[in-house]
Amino acid sequence: MRQRLHIDNVVFELTEACNQCCRFCYNHWRDGLAPLPAPDPSLARRTLRKLLSQVRVGTVSFSGGEPMLLRNVHDLALQARFKGSHVNVLTNGTLLTSDAIDNFNSLGVGAIQIPILSAEAAVHEYLTQLPGSWQKATAALERVASVMPRGAFAVLVITKVNAPGIPETLDLIRSLGVSRVMVNRFNLGGMGLKYAEELVLDLITLRRAFADVDAFGAAHPDMRFVSGVCTPACLLDPSAYPHVQFTWCSTDFNRRPVALNYRGEVRFCNHSPYAIGNIYDRPLGEILSDPAAIARYSAVPDRCKDCALLQRCNGGCRAASEQVFGTFSEADPLLSLENR
Ligand code: SF4
Ligand code: SF4
Ligand code: SF4
Repeated sequence: MRQRLHIDNVVFELTEACNQCCRFCYNHWRDGLAPLPAPDPSLARRTLRKLLSQVRVGTVSFSGGEPMLLRNVHDLALQARFKGSHVNVLTNGTLLTSDAIDNFNSLGVGAIQIPILSAEAAVHEYLTQLPGSWQKATAALERVASVMPRGAFAVLVITKVNAPGIPETLDLIRSLGVSRVMVNRFNLGGMGLKYAEELVLDLITLRRAFADVDAFGAAHPDMRFVSGVCTPACLLDPSAYPHVQFTWCSTDFNRRPVALNYRGEVRFCNHSPYAIGNIYDRPLGEILSDPAAIARYSAVPDRCKDCALLQRCNGGCRAASEQVFGTFSEADPLLSLENR
């Protein structure tokens, strides 16, 4: 019998719907105008089954939209666990009850990631545009940390709005009992395009923000900080922030999170707006190894061609280039910061 293809990480988008309307939301379908379709739990279940029949997946990360809007989210987690996958849940935390956390823990869910954007409720809620979200998100993350300490992740999306309060935000996160923090600089896309002017960090603020995270990491060696969105190394030199682990994406599908939505559409990653196929039409392995898809994602931006850092940096986040310029062959739009 032929061995099923293995894929390390699939971000499974259970729905486009979300109860928040974050100014920085990178979801390509969020433009603040188009109505969002209601969650479709049975289609999500069918698509997950289809995925797991085609490939072995190391980790399925449930995302969206807001995955807690799916009434069968725990069944889906069980379905993936039953097939041997690790499961992570990326949620805004506002709908995450204590029972839901206990259920995820019983199912062996490995990690729950919740954005905590500020120590100040007003700043957090300015960004999420949902009154009451700060209290709910912090309470949920604290509860996750008490039940599954190694699986509690705070996500700090760094924008110009919340960058000044980073030390206080990290103090709050620490006080919740959380030791793992994803520090993602604001990445252009989706709703964020509409609010780009007020959210995009200038170069000095970007570097100061990472210096603040690094200093906090130096003072608290029991905590871990991971930068999960690639930033052009010519703008932000990772070696200047030794207490932050920088991740790099790759055209190798086992070294990046492949995105799949509940309708079966496959994308390069969760930030990319462009579907390269549908697993109801052909198997995921075939979609990912399609020469046309490989060619689309192999282009090297002109300005990066002779760069010694290309292998690692890969031109920054080029899914953001797809969202802004409509092509992967341009370097990260953040590079316009050089002139700011
Ligand atoms: S960033 Fe997440 S929580 Fe915020 S609107 Fe987008 S999907 Fe919802
Ligand atoms: S690969 Fe491109 S974006 Fe990255 S450091 Fe080099 S020139 Fe800058
Ligand atoms: S293209 Fe951007 S969002 Fe996608 S995996 Fe790479 S760094 Fe992450």
